[in-house]
Amino acid sequence: MFLTISTTGTTEKPATDLGFLLHKHPGRAQAFTTSHGTAHVFYPEASAERCTAALLLEVDPVALVRRGREKGRGGAPDAALAQYVNDRPYAASSLLAVALGGVFRSALNGRCTARPELPGRPLALRIEIPALPARGGAALVRRLFEPLGWDRVDVEPVVLDEKFPQWGDSRYVRLVLDGGQRLDDALRQLYVLLPVLDDSKHYWVAPDEVDKLLRAGDGWLAGHPEHALITARYLARDKRLTRDAMERLELARLAEVDGSEPEEVDNAVDESRDTEERPVPLAVRRREAILAALRSAGAARVLDLGCGQGQLVQALLKDVTFTEIVGVDVSTHALAVAARRLRLERMGERQSSRVRLFQGSLAYTDKRLVGYDAAVLSEVIEHLDLPRLPALEYAVFGAARPRTVLVTTPNVEYNVRWETLPAGHVRHRDHRFEWTREEFRTWARRVADRYGYAVAYVPVGEDDPEVGPPTQMAVFTATGEPATTQTTETTTTPKEGEAA
Ligand code: SAH
Repeated sequence: MFLTISTTGTTEKPATDLGFLLHKHPGRAQAFTTSHGTAHVFYPEASAERCTAALLLEVDPVALVRRGREKGRGGAPDAALAQYVNDRPYAASSLLAVALGGVFRSALNGRCTARPELPGRPLALRIEIPALPARGGAALVRRLFEPLGWDRVDVEPVVLDEKFPQWGDSRYVRLVLDGGQRLDDALRQLYVLLPVLDDSKHYWVAPDEVDKLLRAGDGWLAGHPEHALITARYLARDKRLTRDAMERLELARLAEVDGSEPEEVDNAVDESRDTEERPVPLAVRRREAILAALRSAGAARVLDLGCGQGQLVQALLKDVTFTEIVGVDVSTHALAVAARRLRLERMGERQSSRVRLFQGSLAYTDKRLVGYDAAVLSEVIEHLDLPRLPALEYAVFGAARPRTVLVTTPNVEYNVRWETLPAGHVRHRDHRFEWTREEFRTWARRVADRYGYAVAYVPVGEDDPEVGPPTQMAVFTATGEPATTQTTETTTTPKEGEAA
């Protein structure tokens, strides 16, 4: 089993940088023991102009059979000979992909500590695989590689025996890929597509194969026209795993179409701050604070305004005290992701009668929002341009008028504590503003006075003595003044000043 990776270069950018990327020195031949035999890495050529790395996997057929037996798949007795006499040691099958994933793991993950700038650069790459088993033939090989941005995908069927051309082609092809690609992208494609073309996965398909597939397929698989075939074959046609993978790919695709929002800084795990072994992400703490505030307000029918991808809706559904949960967002993509997250289509009737998602803009009054106990605006106001904010205030506090309104927003003072956030940057590129505690309170007081609410403040996350908490939450409770719409039933002790 053999494959070569070549690149070209110049004196300034020598081709031998390939050695850094692969973490294998061009001047040495190295051997690695893998579960199926020995993998050799060597460089048939290594100059500034041209450098070729070769991966040769020498499969131990006996070990292969033994491993198969240990796993209880020794095969029928009459297949005994086929266990030893087969193509596995020679053709670039899934075993080569396994070796590739092991021997070139850092390169595949785009890591290069010695030269961190290298992995991000596209190289003039040429990858050659002289004997690639191609179940589905040359046409399928083209269908798999052509959409991946190579300049040339050459696929030549290998004749069965040159002395007997009348026997026709074998089931192998010679594959040459040529083009400007990042090495990690190219390796991740091979890692997935070699076993797909081999289509006789030799190893047990464990549930974590889905994770491996999605990691290796990151950035190219979700949008690939053959992603269904790739997924099914890679997972050895295991229906449940394939469905799981397809769903997750769909989510990835939606996120890409959506403009691929980078995760908000404070939704990520901030390892720099917390000392516990597994710090609780701020997004989780925020949801917990919101749930606690809703419970203590005695809310049963709840609006999640700007629900995004539905994480809070999902958390609300788990608590039966919330009898009606409505997620509203302006983004249809976010709503589609939320619907999948919640598995709305497969939800039982009782559960699905509790939840609804619809599209709407909070900058306009909307009759559908009237009559709820509580509304949550979690990390939403900062996504509106300041001049649009009064429209939202009116739509929520003036027109929809739930008894309780929870508003969370970043506390900009805390940003100096995020080690991953460059000075002066907001936490997410779509944030139109981020407020200090004082700015938020000034806004909240003004809204409360204007629309007849009382307001209290709750810190979310660690309340830093100097800069305050990472998230600030305001809890608004209607005091009944411009009560223009129907009042809702109270399930707990009425709050101070509540409408009679
Ligand atoms: N509430 C979620 C998502 C916050 S991101 C959470 O806490 O994680 C902000 C969300 O507000 C996005 O999903 C965005 O689509 C939505 N949004 C922004 N402007 C909006 C508007 N005018 N009307 C409705 N939703 C809006």
